[in-house]
Amino acid sequence: MFPASFDYYRANSPEEAVALLAEHGSDARILAGGQSLIPAMRYRLAQPAVLVDINTMKDSNYIIQDNGHLRIGSTVRDTDLEFSELIRSKFQLMSDVSNVVADPIVRFRGTLVGSLCHNDPSGDWTAAMLAARASMVIQNGQGKRTLSADDFIVDSFTTAVEEGEMAVEALWPTPSARTGASYQKIERKVGDYATAAAAVQLELNEDNSVKEAGIAITAVSYVALRVAEAEKLLRGQKISRELIKAVAAEASAIADPTSDGRGSAEYKKEVVGVLVARGIVQSLERLGLKVEA
Ligand SMILES: Cc1cc2nc3c(=O)[nH]c(=O)nc-3n(C[C@H](O)[C@H](O)[C@H](O)COP(=O)(O)OP(=O)(O)OC[C@H]3O[C@@H](n4cnc5c(N)ncnc54)[C@H](O)[C@@H]3O)c2cc1C
Repeated sequence: MFPASFDYYRANSPEEAVALLAEHGSDARILAGGQSLIPAMRYRLAQPAVLVDINTMKDSNYIIQDNGHLRIGSTVRDTDLEFSELIRSKFQLMSDVSNVVADPIVRFRGTLVGSLCHNDPSGDWTAAMLAARASMVIQNGQGKRTLSADDFIVDSFTTAVEEGEMAVEALWPTPSARTGASYQKIERKVGDYATAAAAVQLELNEDNSVKEAGIAITAVSYVALRVAEAEKLLRGQKISRELIKAVAAEASAIADPTSDGRGSAEYKKEVVGVLVARGIVQSLERLGLKVEA
């Protein structure tokens, strides 16, 4: 099917983009990689009257380490993240995700910021954003504001980006040397959305007890979920098999999946706990540690 007709504008700066968005109100949408928006338009699930294309915003194509954060501009593609040496060496969770989002062709166009703005309930980046405590910088005609992942992710396909606004960069905290992370995804075949997936990031104290924990799950509810109770269980504790079981049970308990072609609700609920457990074990292994008996 062809999309409904629309007007097309090219914005060369965030200022130009937000001016166009403000002028056209709820009729206008940003076009980033187009990997979600264009299919939605072709199926007429989305019928924006105006598209504001940001792909020519050269100044937004940056990955910069700055003041304890990685700053990722709005036109940075998943492929840029996948092949970044900096990300491979220092941002384990982001590196893991950048290898398993969709397939290489989609990653060649799709953007991290666009994926977070799309906020698909089965999206990989949203779970990682929650576990890594990343945030989003949003710009409008008045200026910028920064929102934590918890405040940015609002509902299924809904974020805190409002009419007349665009997301200009994601801020990803630089993990300390005592941080291990892992992204665990089950998919039917390469390139598919997750049947279930879990993002884990653990920062340890000198004695190997957990200083800070980030646990989030996706594809098992109406939106990606941070498993706050599991994080609480981990904080201050040394990781044992018993503790992992308890944490996995918390993840399964808050999962509320639906049955579909990817699996039954019961299966997804069970498997997401297993993925969290595997994520914890791999996070420790990446720090050269084993689970205590
Ligand atoms: C075959 C296929 C398989 C896929 N598999 C997966 C998968 O396994 N996991 C996964 O997570 N995703 C998957 N995706 C989605 C893919 O990762 C998309 O690239 C991503 O969801 C959207 O990024 P985009 O840059 O293409 O955004 P677009 O499609 O351009 O935009 C998506 C939405 O976000 C809005 N938007 C984009 N950028 C901004 C901005 N800067 N400010 C405000 N709003 C903005 C747009 O207006 C639109 O509403 C798949 C897509 C396809 C086609």
